[in-house]
Amino acid sequence: MAVLDYLATHRTHPTADEIYAALAPQIPTLSKTTVYNTLALLVQQGAVTQLTIDPREARFDGDTTLHGHFYCEECGTLYDIPFSALPELPALPEGYALRETQLYYRGLCAACRCDTSRRPSERKTITVTQ
Ligand SMILES: [Zn+2]
Ligand SMILES: [Zn+2]
Repeated sequence: MAVLDYLATHRTHPTADEIYAALAPQIPTLSKTTVYNTLALLVQQGAVTQLTIDPREARFDGDTTLHGHFYCEECGTLYDIPFSALPELPALPEGYALRETQLYYRGLCAACRCDTSRRPSERKTITVTQ
């Protein structure tokens, strides 16, 4: 299955559109709907995790092992945050059935944090060349 293969080899937490754009040249018959439906099925089967950490669109992760995520608000990169066990979480009220727990961090990644002082001058350079 091309979508699952793509997610297994691309650990960038791509969006459905990114997966479609990457696979479409190799599979001319592929439609966006097929990609969306395949992803929905894979998520339902537990083979792929759907991440809602990116406020713009859903991201998909072929790595379903326990790990957290850091979303950089500057570059949009989703970083894996490895941990061996879930931290102690509040207990759910009785009668609730838990299916999934996600640990999400949001902020600036190290590269973007270092870059913030450089970025305004880069923008200026772009303006000058125009
Ligand atoms: Zn960043
Ligand atoms: Zn991940």
